[in-house]
Amino acid sequence: MAFTLSIYPWVHIAKYSDDGWTAHFVEKGHRTPAEEAALSDRERTELVEGRNSFPELPLVNYTSQYGLGCFEGLKAFPQKGAGLKLFRPDRNAARMARSMRGLMMPAIDEDLLVDGIIGTVKKNAEIGFTMAYDPAWEDDHWQSGGAVYVRPFSYSEPGIGVNLSEYPWVITVNTPVTAYFDPGRHAAVTTDMVRATPLGTGWIKCDSNYVIPTLAKKKALDAGYMEAIFLDARNGENIEEGSSCNFFCLLDNDSLVTPSLEDTILPGITRESVITLARDRGITVEERTLSITEVMEAGRECFVTGTAAGIAPLGSITHHDRKRKFSSVDKDSLSTSLLKELKGIQYGELEDRFGWMVTV
Ligand SMILES: *Cc1c(COP(=O)(O)O)cnc(C)c1O
Repeated sequence: MAFTLSIYPWVHIAKYSDDGWTAHFVEKGHRTPAEEAALSDRERTELVEGRNSFPELPLVNYTSQYGLGCFEGLKAFPQKGAGLKLFRPDRNAARMARSMRGLMMPAIDEDLLVDGIIGTVKKNAEIGFTMAYDPAWEDDHWQSGGAVYVRPFSYSEPGIGVNLSEYPWVITVNTPVTAYFDPGRHAAVTTDMVRATPLGTGWIKCDSNYVIPTLAKKKALDAGYMEAIFLDARNGENIEEGSSCNFFCLLDNDSLVTPSLEDTILPGITRESVITLARDRGITVEERTLSITEVMEAGRECFVTGTAAGIAPLGSITHHDRKRKFSSVDKDSLSTSLLKELKGIQYGELEDRFGWMVTV
């Protein structure tokens, strides 16, 4: 993906203590964006790496040693008119708090985190670190569109014994992003690896949940696919998610189905928004168990959803060496139409009918 880590200067640092949460903004070392672009690679790397260094944070802690941490990801979209708007930051703050409770640590104050999210994007834009709207993105319905990516994450206090984090930080950084999946690649494959088990942490957006998907996705990419699809841990039969995206299938009976939010499914904000858009059109949306057999037999279109990808239509799924094609990538498909609507709202071409966009 075009996730080049190039942290923008302004970051937000929140910290929990016995007195509760406190937070401040920090301006890391920088020049103007034009001056930085003119630097030699070595000088620029040094400057940007300096912004990724937080000497006040302990290296040895429960996050770096045992994966006890969680995070969020959301985008500020350059608007077709002008300026930037964030997509549903309140939902990310709520999920971050829920993830932290799931990891048995003090939950972030949601309003404080929303202030950090909006504040970093605003302060960075004021000093020129932002993303300008490019009308060329409209050619592929913004699938290759850029954005300012906002990444809040938790980080524990120092410690070496296996312990819970009682006094976490929540750091929020910004970095530019462009398209997630390579344009033109739409083939997915099921994996026999297991992302999440019942009674586990699959519902939490935690660091440790990303280990298996990273391995499975690498295998899928090496085999020529763009995405790995996870099946349930018990039977290897029911669809759960993509490697870090929620899964949808439009069946031949015109019903749009997505796995219900049991404890192995991550409650995606894009998932939630796509359900709203589809129901608003009068489409029947079912949140329920969805087997790979049903998708292979009665699926017409499939797509995965997430902040990074938005909506990514799947042209085929290969399961146990059998390849099934779908019409998801066709111009007149529901997948393409939902993609255009979601991105149209996010990039300011369409009216924000559900009040999702927050001006920076
Ligand atoms: C973050 C994530 C998603 C997508 O969530 P969005 O809020 O739509 O970005 C889906 N699945 C997993 C496992 C995730 O971590």
